[in-house]
Amino acid sequence: MNQKEEYDVIIVGAGPAGMFAADELAEKMKVLIIDQGRDIGERNCKMNLRSICMHCDPCDIMCGVGGAGTFSDGTLNLRPDIGGDLAEQTGDRDYAWQLVDHVDEVFLKYGAPDHLYIPKGGRVEELKRRAASVGARFIEIIQRHIGSDNAPVVIRNFEKDLKERGVEFLLDTRVEDLIIEGGECRGVVLKDGTELHSRFTIIAPGRVGAKWIDEIINKHNIGAKYAPIDVGVRVEVPAIVMDPVTKINRDPKFHIQTKTYDDFVRTFCTNEHGFVVKEEYEDFIATNGHSMTNTRSENTNFAFIVRVELTEPIENTVRYGRSIAKLATTIGGGKPVLQRMGDLRRGRRSTENRLKKNPVVNTLKDITPGDISMALPHRIVTDIIEGLEVLNEIIPGVASDSTLLYAPEIKFYSMQVLVDRNMESTVRNLFAAGDGAGLSRDIVNAAATGVIAGRGILKKVG
Ligand SMILES: Cc1cc2nc3c(=O)[nH]c(=O)nc-3n(C[C@H](O)[C@H](O)[C@H](O)COP(=O)(O)OP(=O)(O)OC[C@H]3O[C@@H](n4cnc5c(N)ncnc54)[C@H](O)[C@@H]3O)c2cc1C
Repeated sequence: MNQKEEYDVIIVGAGPAGMFAADELAEKMKVLIIDQGRDIGERNCKMNLRSICMHCDPCDIMCGVGGAGTFSDGTLNLRPDIGGDLAEQTGDRDYAWQLVDHVDEVFLKYGAPDHLYIPKGGRVEELKRRAASVGARFIEIIQRHIGSDNAPVVIRNFEKDLKERGVEFLLDTRVEDLIIEGGECRGVVLKDGTELHSRFTIIAPGRVGAKWIDEIINKHNIGAKYAPIDVGVRVEVPAIVMDPVTKINRDPKFHIQTKTYDDFVRTFCTNEHGFVVKEEYEDFIATNGHSMTNTRSENTNFAFIVRVELTEPIENTVRYGRSIAKLATTIGGGKPVLQRMGDLRRGRRSTENRLKKNPVVNTLKDITPGDISMALPHRIVTDIIEGLEVLNEIIPGVASDSTLLYAPEIKFYSMQVLVDRNMESTVRNLFAAGDGAGLSRDIVNAAATGVIAGRGILKKVG
């Protein structure tokens, strides 16, 4: 095996978690960020914004400098309890809010737009009342919308500044393993067998790295637990249906308990006048959505997902989620399955012909018209139908027959690495941050966990 240079800190993953960790450490320590994806300018996601996955290297969406958030809608949810739980992580509610403010300030410094979306007074009350009247909850959030067009610029500025402050980037390079000796992490092993040594290592591989995290946890006996996953569909409706709500909050969060199973269902990642996109993982596909500041569709899409928790003896939610996603991928012939709500209700598949007649035109074209009840477990399909019917009471039209449902939408929060208040794992000098380590579920929280990890390392060295 080759041996190479020593670093103070090696960070696996150049997503928000990795970059914000590096931001804390830059100029103070010798830092290397390794990412299996490409540099921001080389990530080829903008050839055709309406069908990015047909033309792009799948890894370009999820991997590379900026991480999965780079070509996303770039909505910053400015709350410590959405997309994670920073108060629980830090044990300090005020500090949790300070972390959110800090992340927002850094994004602003690198060019995020000034404008904030603040839920407005009386109309928020009305929405809360309407939700409460059908047993649901509306969660109000202040948001900043970077936009898919602006996000790469913000990331480029951020990367440039990190480099100017001495942070090194090693791209197109996959980390295969960690070097762990005597309960202490001493660096990483690259795919070609090269060993890179470091005093501290931060693993921040994002959702695309969930399987890798799973493997290294098992191999090195790193303390971890199974986190719940969210499984469901991406819903697409005419923007006019959602407008009364998205005008109050761009990414409205509704929490619903379903009638039959008493399961937790929620709306997530709303893209006003946006586009549904395909996410490609190693062995399955999933759906997501994005919106752009300069290109608008006629539709609004959002994730509608059911929380799935498993208990002994089958606690492995990641494996369960993957098997659902693989089944859906098989049914869809490698493409997302698309069905109209009316067809789902009537127990029949959607066809090209039915979709052609549908008043709502799908923004993702690379799909297979089909039957999502063949793709997802019965309990999840029941939760989706019941949940959408509750949502329809709050947002009339959202569960109409012409509503489009794409499956699967799946959110892995993967194995949750057990960490202390500073994000240090049960292995000495091995820190974890972000979505891949099960410690966050959105850009702001991923970034904040990176900040905590960076500060944690600084505390350790005094
Ligand atoms: C299409 C899309 C839209 C989204 N929209 C929003 C939104 O509007 N708002 C929001 O808050 N969140 C959004 N998200 C989620 C958000 O992008 C993530 O929560 C966030 O990026 C997580 O940050 P992270 O740093 O933990 O991981 P990531 O951003 O996923 O970065 C992890 C990086 O690690 C690298 N990596 C993984 N394994 C290895 C390895 N073994 N070796 C080397 N490198 C590795 C990957 O290549 C990747 O670049 C969206 C996600 C997608 C895919």
